[in-house]
Amino acid sequence: MEQINKPRTEREIIVMGLSLTYAVGVGVFAVIRYYKAEYTVAMMDSVLALFGLYVFALVWKTRNTTLPAFAISVISVFGTIATIALKGPEQVYWAYPSVALVFYLLPTRQAIILWTLSALIILYQLIELPTLKLVTIAMTIFITSFFCHLFSSSMSEQHERLREIANQDVLTEIRNRRAFNQDTSNLENYDGLVSAILFDLDNFKQVNDYYGHAVGDDVIKDTSDFVHGVVANDGNLYRIGGDEFAVLCEGQDFNHAFQLAKQIYEAFSVSDISQQHKITLSLAVAQKESGETIKEWLGRLDSALYKAKMSGRNQIVKSVRY
Ligand code: GH3
Ligand code: MG
Repeated sequence: MEQINKPRTEREIIVMGLSLTYAVGVGVFAVIRYYKAEYTVAMMDSVLALFGLYVFALVWKTRNTTLPAFAISVISVFGTIATIALKGPEQVYWAYPSVALVFYLLPTRQAIILWTLSALIILYQLIELPTLKLVTIAMTIFITSFFCHLFSSSMSEQHERLREIANQDVLTEIRNRRAFNQDTSNLENYDGLVSAILFDLDNFKQVNDYYGHAVGDDVIKDTSDFVHGVVANDGNLYRIGGDEFAVLCEGQDFNHAFQLAKQIYEAFSVSDISQQHKITLSLAVAQKESGETIKEWLGRLDSALYKAKMSGRNQIVKSVRY
């Protein structure tokens, strides 16, 4: 239900727009060819236009774009090859929008495979052309493909880099609240075991007050590095607030998370950071129970941390659902 109410992503809109444009565009050609009594091409165009409509409806209903993007790419190159076969080599200009579409819609590797195969078939269809014409077409197709590939790979690299930046905390360089929200919401329908630890520095404001904000920053960064070392591969560490952190343990039960919380607590209490600045940690541990929503589970963790703070800090509170 929640999924349906979410606004459509840019990719959904683009894939729907392309499939509809494709259906209408090819549909118009189908009508023209029908009136020109070119019944075979008209029939092929009609089938492709209907397929375009089907893809549009598929994205509209399922909101998934992976298969539809692949389908549009395939029908686009198939349309080019079939048009050349039916109407002759001068139809090769359809190859240029096709290559742009394939590289725009598909992951780079898939696009390279699909387009290389298609370009070879298209060039084979043109084999009878005079050599100079064939070479010119081959060169222009190659140059267009090369630039489409260049744009596509630099776009996906930038996309990946932006995603990393958006999910990383600037001070500690570990994952941030946004990444935590995303990772936990991905677990909403997950049936396996998952548990988490929430922890917060005790009386941290005093560090800022006594030593200044810059030292406070160093303490947060050092605490993050220290706990990161303790957690290692036993969970994923996030900074989810000013001096508040979370450890997500996917595939792990309460006991695993509790043992890890104990390790963090014990190691931190004898660490230089703790000794030097007289700071301690309050921790909360909870496992997501079956039938429990992410919101309820995280709410339970929050309440447990609050309880730890209210009962004198410097302790671990277990949260068990009754
Ligand atoms: P409690 O024991 O109840 O946790 O009290 P606390 O003093 O630790 O305060 P609390 O956790 O409620 O608030 C965290 C404080 O951390 C608030 C703010 O002054 C400080 N803080 C938040 N973000 C940063 C930051 O990036 N750098 C520094 N230096 N301080 C921060
Ligand atoms: Mg605090």
